Order: sequence, then structure tokens, then C-alpha cells
Amino acid sequence: MDTSKMYELPRLPYGYGDLAPYISEEQLRIHHTKHHQAYVNGANAIIERFDKARKDGVDLDMKATLKELSFQLGGHELHSTFWQNLAPAGNGGGGQPTGMLRDAMMREYGSFERFRKEFTQAAVSVEGSGWAVLTYCEVSHRIGVMQVEKHNVNFPVGSPLLMALDVWEHAYYLDYKNDRAKFVEAFWNIVNWDIVDKMFAQLLESRKPVLVRA
Ligand code: MN
Repeated sequence: MDTSKMYELPRLPYGYGDLAPYISEEQLRIHHTKHHQAYVNGANAIIERFDKARKDGVDLDMKATLKELSFQLGGHELHSTFWQNLAPAGNGGGGQPTGMLRDAMMREYGSFERFRKEFTQAAVSVEGSGWAVLTYCEVSHRIGVMQVEKHNVNFPVGSPLLMALDVWEHAYYLDYKNDRAKFVEAFWNIVNWDIVDKMFAQLLESRKPVLVRA
């Protein structure tokens, strides 16, 4: 098996202590090296399980295995997006978007404040463990806030992730105990809008239609 094609934990684009006081060094280190790593390991283990089952000619419980795979892969992808869209406060983190994303945000929400309010409400109200994300619909050409339950439920297939906020308790329990709203409030100080803006510009470029539909 070519293990170079397996899933890997991405390095953080900042140090573990750099997001303090909004996310403490200990919280970020555990979140990245334990929780995210577990999803990477989980996804790789399922791929290996498939390889082995095919080699041995045995059947897998397809429903249970694929459900688990979507959970582990969702966890890996969402965490990778989350780390990328964070930056130290005052050093890339905080403020507001400035580029094409700002234009799209103004069209959709009328103001940054309205967007922030809707995203906050989505994050705070996720039932159980999950995420608030910013996505884009290439049919309506509108950006939008969505909730993801767990890592893989309640999110339309094929929707791109522009920004993600982890509201699993494992994301904030050391810093904020059970106070999710306080963590969500802190998040706005460490959003890397420059990256989210670039992701959006890149997405629009890559999704330019290559076929004209009749
Ligand atoms: Mn997490």
C-alpha cells in the first residue's frame, strides 16, 4: 500500500501559544494533537480496513463502515479548514473581510454585523457537537451560513468550506468550561479574514463554468 496517499495531520500555520488568550496553548495543543489526530487515524484505519477486506475477500458492514468514514473524513476536513482560518489576534486575526468576500457579504447580509450575528447564532445553537461554517452555493451564487452536526450531518453534499468554527465542547472546555457563547465571541478576535477572502477568490476562479448547459 502507498501510505503517502493516506491522510495526515496538517501543521498549524502558527504556534500553539499564539492564539492565546482566546484559545490557550494547552487547549489548542490537545485539540490539534489529540482530537484532530484521532480523526486522521480513524480515516486511515478505515481505508486500511477496506484494503484488508478486499485482499482477504471478506465483506464489511458497508452501512456502518461508510457512516464512520464520513464522520472521520468530515472531522479531518473541518479541522483542517478551522486551523487555516485562524490567526493570532492583531497579527492576521480579527477585523473584517476586505476583498470579494466583503462584497458578497454586503450583498447577502447588508452589513458585517448582520453576518456576524447570524453566524454566531448558528454556532451557539448547534444541537450537541458540531460546527458553524461559511459556504457558497454555486447555483444561487450566494454565500451562506450552515450548521454541521457532529462532522457530517446536516450539511449539503458538495458545498465548499470557506470558514469553519468548531463548537464541539472539546474545542473550548479548558478555557471556557461549558460556556460556548463566550468561546464563539472570542473567535471573532482570531479569524484570519485574509485567508477566507483568498479561499473565496480561489473558489470563484475554480468554479468558472467550463460547459454551457442548454
Ligand atoms: Mn474539534
